[in-house]
Amino acid sequence: MIVGKNRATKLVVDLHALQQNIKNEKKLLQSQTEIFAVVKANGYGHGLIEVAKAAVGAGATGLCVAILDEALALREAAITVPILVLGITETANAKLAQENNISLTVGSLEWLHQYQQINGDATAQENLKVHLVVDTGMGRIGFRDVDQLAQAVLLVRNAPFEFEGIFTHFATADETDESYFKQQLNTWHLLTDQIDKMPRYVHVANSATSLWHLPVTGNMIRLGITMYGLNPAGTAIAAPFALQPVLRLESHLNFVKQIKAGSFVSYGATYQASSDEWIGTIPIGYADGYPRRMQGFHVLINGQFCEIVGRVCMDQMMIKLPAKLSVGTRVTLIGQQNGQQISCDDVAQYAETINYEILTSMAPRLQREYLN
Ligand SMILES: *Cc1c(COP(=O)(O)O)cnc(C)c1O
Repeated sequence: MIVGKNRATKLVVDLHALQQNIKNEKKLLQSQTEIFAVVKANGYGHGLIEVAKAAVGAGATGLCVAILDEALALREAAITVPILVLGITETANAKLAQENNISLTVGSLEWLHQYQQINGDATAQENLKVHLVVDTGMGRIGFRDVDQLAQAVLLVRNAPFEFEGIFTHFATADETDESYFKQQLNTWHLLTDQIDKMPRYVHVANSATSLWHLPVTGNMIRLGITMYGLNPAGTAIAAPFALQPVLRLESHLNFVKQIKAGSFVSYGATYQASSDEWIGTIPIGYADGYPRRMQGFHVLINGQFCEIVGRVCMDQMMIKLPAKLSVGTRVTLIGQQNGQQISCDDVAQYAETINYEILTSMAPRLQREYLN
């Protein structure tokens, strides 16, 4: 993996803002409710290890990832807090989790039986920590049937398992219409109220649930997008506290020229200058995770919005400048300049997607700079 360390394009990650978001979230919670920071997908593009360490420093008592390899990378970085893999891990790979004290999500009896078959008779081995996932309406993974869940609970209470957690995931916690949320909550109770002794971690809340459905948090929340300073609902519902964006995306002009009226810019010749125009080129493109469909949107230069002209290329794109500017002039693609701002939500809206996708698309090629 090649990181562009010798070019001006970079992601600036404000870890202080990240920690502030965690602390503000914590104030909303009851004192015994723990926060597990969700650092999957390279910490939502911000950097797995750096984000994990900052989150733990700000009071997160555990971490959630999507796949086992992310958890192993955290352990290799000597991070010792509990780590939960939220997706399904193949039983053939599950021993690696147990050996590294990583907790796995389990959503079927078949999985438990298979793991038992492979690892059940090994002697003097530690047990595998398991969180049972309950599908209350997300329709993704998990137990949907009371009897099967009851059988699973019996199984994980004995070796080679340790019953560490139980959880579900809401599909519409970020919407103003609460009917489906309530239906899921109802199903959660139908499925889990029969369990006589709940495990250490009972968790149902992602960011949206923790922001707008506060009584329903269990004793741990899985905090993702809010920690990164973004609203899970985009701009649709206000958050109860001011979120501080963690990520900035910056570049600079590395080529400046004047083109004659009638000249074209970039692939497909889709942009034609209507008068003589100053055009700047910046070293970032869709291979860096900045969407190709951003043609016609804008960036900030000297606190002014400047249009992206012509198609965004793989590694470069062109900007219409208000005047002749020098090579080296700073360009902000996401972030603030002189009181003006381009938010991740602005970019997401223009690209017709959600802020999550913009963040997680930020490519490994982008150099990441960390502010503490
Ligand atoms: C990704 C994920 C989260 C975090 O979601 P946010 O909306 O970013 O807070 C929580 N729980 C599960 C199961 C997830 O997959």
